[in-house]
Amino acid sequence: MNMTESYVIIGDGIAGSSAAETLREEAPDSDITVVTDEGEALYNRILIKEFAKGKLPEAPVSIHEEDWYAERDIDLSLNTHVTDVDPDAHEVHTHDSGTIEYDKLLIASGGTPTKLPVKNADGEGIHHFWTFQDARAINEHASEADTGVVIGAGLLGIDLAAICGAQDVDAHYLMRGECWWRYALSPEGAEIIHDGMRDVGVTPVFGSGADEFVLDEDGHVEATIDTNGERYESDFVGIAIGLDFNIEYMQDTDLELDDGVVVDEYMQTNLDDIYAAGDLTRFYDTILGEHAQNGSWGSAKEQGQIAATNMAADDEAEAFRWVSSYSITHFDFPFLSFGHPTLGDDAVEKKYSDTEWRRITFKDGKVIGGVLIGDLAPQTTFKTLMREEREVSGQKELLLEETVDIDKLDAPPQGQ
Ligand SMILES: Cc1cc2nc3c(=O)[nH]c(=O)nc-3n(C[C@H](O)[C@H](O)[C@H](O)COP(=O)(O)OP(=O)(O)OC[C@H]3O[C@@H](n4cnc5c(N)ncnc54)[C@H](O)[C@@H]3O)c2cc1C
Repeated sequence: MNMTESYVIIGDGIAGSSAAETLREEAPDSDITVVTDEGEALYNRILIKEFAKGKLPEAPVSIHEEDWYAERDIDLSLNTHVTDVDPDAHEVHTHDSGTIEYDKLLIASGGTPTKLPVKNADGEGIHHFWTFQDARAINEHASEADTGVVIGAGLLGIDLAAICGAQDVDAHYLMRGECWWRYALSPEGAEIIHDGMRDVGVTPVFGSGADEFVLDEDGHVEATIDTNGERYESDFVGIAIGLDFNIEYMQDTDLELDDGVVVDEYMQTNLDDIYAAGDLTRFYDTILGEHAQNGSWGSAKEQGQIAATNMAADDEAEAFRWVSSYSITHFDFPFLSFGHPTLGDDAVEKKYSDTEWRRITFKDGKVIGGVLIGDLAPQTTFKTLMREEREVSGQKELLLEETVDIDKLDAPPQGQ
């Protein structure tokens, strides 16, 4: 290993920051620079929804002070936007901090919420949710608003709905399909979530969506017209319809993209000395046996660590092998999705009570993901089955028993 190697990391989210930490451990004498266009160092993105609900002060959301980087001799550049990268020259260009040279580069710049392409979507009071700054604006506005509309029937949209509930905003949650997160839940399972929303004062509306927003004379939103022509009063609007990955700065390069930055299981891109980690990767999933995506905190952290280990080792030292989980804590019952609940060639599901439901997805007879509502106890077993790549083709119904007994299932393949 070259001891004077220089590493540049674009992004100080959990992927970039954990990569910097690992690099410092693995390559003690190297130069490490972390560049972020945000004005603050790493904070807990998972917790900003609690802050936006008005339930949490700022302090616990923050993870690293700037001192944390200085103590580790990591150069942190806040408020610095990367404009382009020259892979041949090994250079990163920034909007006003000049050029930074690197031996190895990590792309960990995540995504930005997708804008809704409808009339007046840029009105005042219409919020997207990704940064702590967004959360501050949402908290301030939601605490004053009387009526609201939320768009985007997925894991981030439901945070906005819960924020409306917690802030006493009388809100409608407009969804295109017949239920929330229709790619991972059936209407029967989703009905538990719908009831949870109603309990906090949010009304789900199906077969809907925003067609346009009505603004008052000051340019502030006052209502949402849905695709059926219905008008919903909404002096607060929250939109979460997906992410656009932040990789404009790579547009003049040959970086392989496929709705995300394509990396192998070592987090290496197709370009020499350039790695990627976190939400924006389309990584080779060694459990699934194909490339996949995952937008979750734990996965981004692990990818950052794996990328850094391989960058420092100068070879393919460690592969990414991970079963992700994502939990929702807004309601009286717990909710957890794991693995790839929207993929696969088969699924089984069962409702146990008004607040208990389970769905497991399979690919080639193996568990690849699922959703648990109400009772999270079997998650350990399901994750073990995934990690061990157990063949459960003839035994899928056993996975729906209230208590799943792993010993009743066929043994894992040899070598696992
Ligand atoms: C409200 C909310 C709630 C969530 N809840 C959960 C949850 O409960 N569980 C869970 O597992 N996950 C949750 N997530 C998702 C999780 O936070 C993300 O998967 C994770 O933070 C992704 O980390 P990352 O490092 O890949 O990207 P990011 O955290 O997006 O970091 C990327 C950084 O790069 C910066 N950047 C972008 N472009 C440039 C550029 N050109 N130059 C310089 N810097 C740039 C960005 O400003 C950003 O700071 C939630 C996300 C949000 C927004």
